[in-house]
Amino acid sequence: MPTRPLAAALAAASTILVVGCLSTRPRPQPARLPKAAAAPAAAPAAPSVPEVPYYDLVAELGLSSRIDLASGRRICRDARKNEVSLVPGDRFVTVNGARVDVGGRIRWTNGVLMVPAAASRSIRARLAATPPAKAAPATAVIAAPLPAAWKTKANRRWRWIVIHHSATAKGGAKSFHASHKKKWRHGLGYHFVIGNGTHTRNGEVEVGSRWTRQGQGIDGAHAGNKRYNQLGIGVCLVGDFNERAPGAGQLASLRQLCRALMKRFEIPRSEVRLHRDVRRGSTECPGKRFPFQSFQRSL
Ligand SMILES: [Zn+2]
Repeated sequence: MPTRPLAAALAAASTILVVGCLSTRPRPQPARLPKAAAAPAAAPAAPSVPEVPYYDLVAELGLSSRIDLASGRRICRDARKNEVSLVPGDRFVTVNGARVDVGGRIRWTNGVLMVPAAASRSIRARLAATPPAKAAPATAVIAAPLPAAWKTKANRRWRWIVIHHSATAKGGAKSFHASHKKKWRHGLGYHFVIGNGTHTRNGEVEVGSRWTRQGQGIDGAHAGNKRYNQLGIGVCLVGDFNERAPGAGQLASLRQLCRALMKRFEIPRSEVRLHRDVRRGSTECPGKRFPFQSFQRSL
């Protein structure tokens, strides 16, 4: 994906810039500044807390681990149905449905996923306090059923699926329709909206009128690109994926919707695209934390 190396380069450049600014500041620095400067998680410096390799932690806890390819989530279980899951980059793990702060970021170091050493104790304590029988099925992710309207009479030779995020923490088809109505006569620019548990249920798929009325010459208004608005199916996930990755429920519904559309319209996996890849340079949509490579592989 061509925008990734660029984004990484920009991130690296901005880190250097920040460090440079701090180190060349002419005034004497306040005593607490070096500590504050060391705080950003992005800095690949030495860990501020002791860490252990993820697989050592898993072995120590007697768990077996697998990876959910779409979300990148590590899911570990034992014979008693205890479940511990985590996402690289987070500061917490989910233990039998409960969030546990592990006191530092779970991160990659030289190709090895490292977890704060204190995590072992916190996870054990939570496992003791929250038996699996009472656990919420945190990772039993089932896609929400597709609403019947997705099967609308379709008279276009749809070529692409274009994935978006709303870049808002909350929302749904109704609220986006209200804001898009200010710009476009037909309102909601996307064909489908996948909820995040705010205005609609997590993973709920809503069908927009540009999909159901596609036979009336109404194009999408999502890509900022005429061809993709005419022949690209716009799917928006509610959330700001520059801030946090989409949830497993949303991804499960997106996968199900994409598969259904791909099958029906003979759209190959390579034609499932991100908004930023059809409108290069002018948008980050759907955010840098959208796990596109693993998602595309899972289709
Ligand atoms: Zn977009």
